[in-house]
Amino acid sequence: MNAEISARLRGAAGFIFDMDGTIALGDSKSGGHRALPHAIAVLETLKAAGTPFVVFTNGTAKPPAAYAQSLRNAGFPVADGQMLTPSSSAAIWLAKSGLTKVRVLGNAGCAAPLVDAGLDVIGPSDEAEGVQAVYTGWFREFDFAALEAGCHSLWGGARLVTASNVPFFATENGRAIGASYPINAMLSAMTGKRPRILGKPSRVAFETALGVMGLPRSAAKDIIVVGDDPALEMRMANDAGASSVGLATGVMSADAELPEHSRPSCLLGDLEPMLAALQAG
Ligand SMILES: [Mg+2]
Repeated sequence: MNAEISARLRGAAGFIFDMDGTIALGDSKSGGHRALPHAIAVLETLKAAGTPFVVFTNGTAKPPAAYAQSLRNAGFPVADGQMLTPSSSAAIWLAKSGLTKVRVLGNAGCAAPLVDAGLDVIGPSDEAEGVQAVYTGWFREFDFAALEAGCHSLWGGARLVTASNVPFFATENGRAIGASYPINAMLSAMTGKRPRILGKPSRVAFETALGVMGLPRSAAKDIIVVGDDPALEMRMANDAGASSVGLATGVMSADAELPEHSRPSCLLGDLEPMLAALQAG
């Protein structure tokens, strides 16, 4: 890691960490997490220095507090309020946009932040008129009834919004399918509507993280986004004018040929050089 990047890490206003493939790997069988090397020490170092950080996963299988508990079980110093999912930013964006009647094509964990925000959440295949948005997320139980209900809401004028639109994420057992990607493909094929992404790499997600850290939009250039997926974390950082640390511990390989908008400021094989840079401060 060069001196300029080291200095940027030490002077950062805040950090946004990805979860799967970056600080931990999830076991799809147990549902728990295992810390990746040096990840706990990196977060402990930031906590000790009083530097704000959040963990923003694009997963919506569970409510944010359940992911935070899973990370604490694995040894991480992550409070419930420091854990974000796309449903966290979706709840804020939908409320602000006046789209309060929302059909959620997702499981209970996906819908929880929208319910908590007081939105009128319609179940996947419930009959409803006047649905203003269809929100897709983690939903292994997706079926034809949900497809039909989602299409009828979209044909009736609802906006299509989604937690995430990447095909894969990293798990202990290799790559796994991101549920919303194929669901979005079906809904788009049937209705011609393209999903607006409210998780990473959207500006909505980035600004939600800034808000949770108590930082103004002007702090964007002093934010470091750390992740393993160039299409998510690197893209989000570059679009927002932030810096990024890419890790070859998940879906990205160390020799990946990346387009400019998905290139990290610095690509690492693991978190050890980042830990060393932070501890040198
Ligand atoms: Mg990841």
